[in-house]
Amino acid sequence: MFARLLQNRLRSGLLTSRLSLNTNTPLIEQCWQCQRQVDRSECQTHCPCEKHIILPVRSELDYFRLFDFSRSFEIDTKQLTRIFRNKMKFLHPDLFTNKSDTEKQHSQDQSSLLNEAYKTLLSPLARAHYLLKLENITLEESPVQLEPDFLMRIMEINEDLVEIISKNEPFPMELTIKMRQEIDDHMKQLSTALNQMDLTKAQEILARLQYFNNINDKLIDLEVKHGII
Ligand SMILES: [Zn+2]
Repeated sequence: MFARLLQNRLRSGLLTSRLSLNTNTPLIEQCWQCQRQVDRSECQTHCPCEKHIILPVRSELDYFRLFDFSRSFEIDTKQLTRIFRNKMKFLHPDLFTNKSDTEKQHSQDQSSLLNEAYKTLLSPLARAHYLLKLENITLEESPVQLEPDFLMRIMEINEDLVEIISKNEPFPMELTIKMRQEIDDHMKQLSTALNQMDLTKAQEILARLQYFNNINDKLIDLEVKHGII
């Protein structure tokens, strides 16, 4: 029963996403200062009037829209950083210290939203989670059942790591190389699954990646401890 519900949800998610990719619904509102009609899907932060008044946050605009990207796992992160810095030049609360309380508030809200969006899109894992969230799928609400063999392997690696750390054993180079290769492979698979809108598959890969990432964090700590990085 639950499986069928999830299937339907995934199927409908798939349909909405294909539609939303091609639809650029206007979001018309009146500028709070000059009263002109503004399409917020075009003017995300400021009114196009001559005073360039800062506008309130619109939650309908997803993080990709904030950076003028289409919803996709593959993004140009250099361009993301460039756009982020450019936009921040006009949103940062320091620029609004002599402005009205309304403008101060909008600047606070806009810059914290942009910061959050930037952080999310910059990290491939957070970006993948966000893409799934836009399709109403979260790993918390619809957990993935991974096969026992995989979970057993992860458990063994974690046990090995505990031993390496507690007994001060040499750095596990072979494991590190293998783990990073697996992360790379899974990232490629994740990208393909998301491009093909195979959300069930993407969800499963993401669940595995979380385990690998967790191990990789421990390996990074060990690299620091052993003076490797
Ligand atoms: Zn205006």
